Amino acid sequence: MHKQNLCKGCIESVIVTEEVIHELVKEAEVDLSVIVSDEIYLERLKICDSCPSLQYGTTCAHSGCIVRYRAKFKNKSCPISGKPKWEKAV
Ligand code: SF4
Repeated sequence: MHKQNLCKGCIESVIVTEEVIHELVKEAEVDLSVIVSDEIYLERLKICDSCPSLQYGTTCAHSGCIVRYRAKFKNKSCPISGKPKWEKAV
């Protein structure tokens, strides 16, 4: 693995396959008490999709997280300090 592909956040590489993302999302959905509704999830992803900080179509440049994973959780927010584009849901 190339050093520049190392991610500071959730997983080892910032370039991930659909399969890996599916696995992460499935893992998040194991505990329904900690995840947001589909409506909130899709709203969050819509915001990320139009954000210039979204890298490779998958990864937030601010957190290093895969947005389709991070956006699942009630206790997560967009990591932009002071002006998050989406908020915690708890
Ligand atoms: S989490 Fe926030 S900063 Fe990161 S891609 Fe989504 S909207 Fe942009």
